[in-house]
Amino acid sequence: MSNSKKILIVDDEKMNIMALVHFLRSQYEIIIAVDGISALEAAEKHAPDIILLDVIMPDMSGFDVLVKLKDSSVTMNIPVIFITGLNDVESEEKGLVLGAVDYIAKPFHKSIVKARIQTHLKMSDYIRTIEKFGLMDVLTGLSNRRSFDTRMSTEWGRAFREKKPLGLIILDIDNFKIYNDTYGHPQGDTLLQAIAAVLNETVNRSSDFVARWGGEEFIVLLPDTDRNGILNIAEQIRVNIKNRIVPCTDETNTSATVSLGAKSIIPDDDNSIARFIADADALLYTAKKNGKDQVCIDNA
Ligand code: GH3
Ligand code: MG
Ligand code: MG
Repeated sequence: MSNSKKILIVDDEKMNIMALVHFLRSQYEIIIAVDGISALEAAEKHAPDIILLDVIMPDMSGFDVLVKLKDSSVTMNIPVIFITGLNDVESEEKGLVLGAVDYIAKPFHKSIVKARIQTHLKMSDYIRTIEKFGLMDVLTGLSNRRSFDTRMSTEWGRAFREKKPLGLIILDIDNFKIYNDTYGHPQGDTLLQAIAAVLNETVNRSSDFVARWGGEEFIVLLPDTDRNGILNIAEQIRVNIKNRIVPCTDETNTSATVSLGAKSIIPDDDNSIARFIADADALLYTAKKNGKDQVCIDNA
């Protein structure tokens, strides 16, 4: 039962609820609410996969419930199907315009309700998968650059308001072209995966954020981390990557080093995200110029 999808049924008429529960309960986990307020509470608390919503209810109409659901980031993506006695075109249009995925007029056919629920559950699974892959780097499983940009802007805003330090590390594999040329491109991909794993192991505060920044560059965002803190982490990353043995399929052991640029600032009006990233990138470039396999950190 724990794997089955959750349906929240909202209706003020017990008979209507029973009719739906009767043919849905063998396949789904059912949650029931008999008015708008408890529907909103149940949606927040149980995070149902889909909501079947009546329109005419005392106190709060189904339309008002839907507006509130769309207002909250927790519930806004839950698909809502109206199941209602209101079968005029205007009501149906209103429900769909407000963001319901479907509108079923009573009396309904069980098989149609079932089929539509299935369709919408499948659609929302697809959407979730697409969203997940849109934010993820497929090779390493790390967050991608787009995802990083979103997180960066959130954390920048927070650090700005709270006047707290924000740390940033950009790292790039040393001589990766030679590594690829020596061991082959697929082995280069394996090295990228191994480095992603080391980053995940080394950076472990839940607020820290690791992403693949480009081909062979990674970026780590460390909220509430001052200069000493990022120097410490950057150095740990450098050493842990250097010590990581990455075997080839023929059992040859390989390893690689990285160069890192690190910077921590307390955001203010004289700074910007673009500047912050450009500064860390310039420090990475200095680390390369100074001989690679090292951390270069801002003096400030
Ligand atoms: P440096 O030490 O100065 O950073 O030199 P480098 O050879 O690491 O850097 P360069 O920019 O010359 O080469 C980067 C290489 O990274 C070339 C490119 O083919 C490789 N690369 C980028 N993305 C991927 C990838 O997804 N998989 C693999 N295997 N290689 C990649
Ligand atoms: Mg490189
Ligand atoms: Mg590069």
